Amino acid sequence: MVKTPIYMDYHATTPIDQRVTDVMLPYFSNCFGNAASRNHTFGWEAEEAVENSRKSIAQAMGARTSEIIFTSGATESNNLVLLGACSMYAQKGNHIITAKTEHKAILDTCEFLESSGVEVTYLPVGEDGLIDLNQLADAMRENTILVSIMAANNEIGVLQPISEIGAMCHEKGILFHTDAAQALGKMPMHVEEMNIDLLSFSGHKIYGPKGIGGLYVRKRKPRVKLSPILHGGGHERGMRSGTLNVPGIVGLAKALEICMDEMEEENKRIGSLRDRLEKTLLTEIDFSYLNGHKERRLIGNSNISFNYVEGEGLMMAIPDIAVSSGSACTSASLEPSYVLKAIGRSDELAHSSIRFGLGRFTTEEEVDYVIEKMIAGVKKLRDLSPLYEMVLEGVDLATVEWAEH
Ligand SMILES: *Cc1c(COP(=O)(O)O)cnc(C)c1O
Repeated sequence: MVKTPIYMDYHATTPIDQRVTDVMLPYFSNCFGNAASRNHTFGWEAEEAVENSRKSIAQAMGARTSEIIFTSGATESNNLVLLGACSMYAQKGNHIITAKTEHKAILDTCEFLESSGVEVTYLPVGEDGLIDLNQLADAMRENTILVSIMAANNEIGVLQPISEIGAMCHEKGILFHTDAAQALGKMPMHVEEMNIDLLSFSGHKIYGPKGIGGLYVRKRKPRVKLSPILHGGGHERGMRSGTLNVPGIVGLAKALEICMDEMEEENKRIGSLRDRLEKTLLTEIDFSYLNGHKERRLIGNSNISFNYVEGEGLMMAIPDIAVSSGSACTSASLEPSYVLKAIGRSDELAHSSIRFGLGRFTTEEEVDYVIEKMIAGVKKLRDLSPLYEMVLEGVDLATVEWAEH
């Protein structure tokens, strides 16, 4: 028997790898020093742990050690990039370019910046979730200071053409930031080869702890500077003050090391489980549609709309399986997923979507269990659905005139 509940929501967060917890533990007890204490061994020990971690993280993305700064996570890193660049480069311009499908940590920050006079272009995406590079070129202006495009999307997993975007930015002297919270550790990321100036990442998306993350800030060609959003003490090259989270940093580095060491093998395994889940659901369940690009996407991602069932209801029908839905009921706002809307999905299809996120600890038995429960769950709900019945009877719902009361 498979052990339940089953976790299949790896884009929301990942379980901590035991190997990560193990290396963190001493930093909660004996090694409690403040990495900024310069006068005793407690401080030196903590500082050494932080600097070793910084070095290892830098290596994982082809950066120099001093180009990594630690933050509380990708939300903070994204805020620091947008607010910090707009403030630092206000002389140069006040225009930034991003995409409609970015994480809320980008979109909400952009909205905030707009209220203080920054101009923001939100690029649309195609049905596959990709931005159009011609539209990006057209959007670039004299006063554009920053382009921020995520490496991998957290809902549909689509992978944007980061190297190409970076090259276009560098040609125009515009800074390029990428939110790589979902990408780093899951696919090769190299800041030089991909022309990246700023890169946000997070511990808890890569089997590390929550509340720790970081930012790569390019130091040469060009030397990037950001105004801090937190002041006090001048830690992290003056860009992020605050006593460093030493256990978190050690855990983050270990988590990324494991990801880098095991990426190839792990991706093969997760990819075949994902394909098995996806192929079976799409063939066994009629009126089901894959959302986003079929190939260019995160290996553990499968986002599927099951028409004529409501995502929220479907999740209630499979209570021992943890997934997400683009249905409105699952979000604070009343709108269905803005990402699915941006790729042109109707409200109905956005409402009926389920995001499966597979990862390191997903097993074949779990996948088979999820397949079985999903097929039964969709069938159960559709058996109760008058719409589905009408469709089976050949009624074209688009032509139905619904009585109003
Ligand atoms: C999870 C996530 C974030 C937020 O990261 P936190 O470390 O939880 O603040 C930002 N962007 C993307 C794409 C994410 O998936």
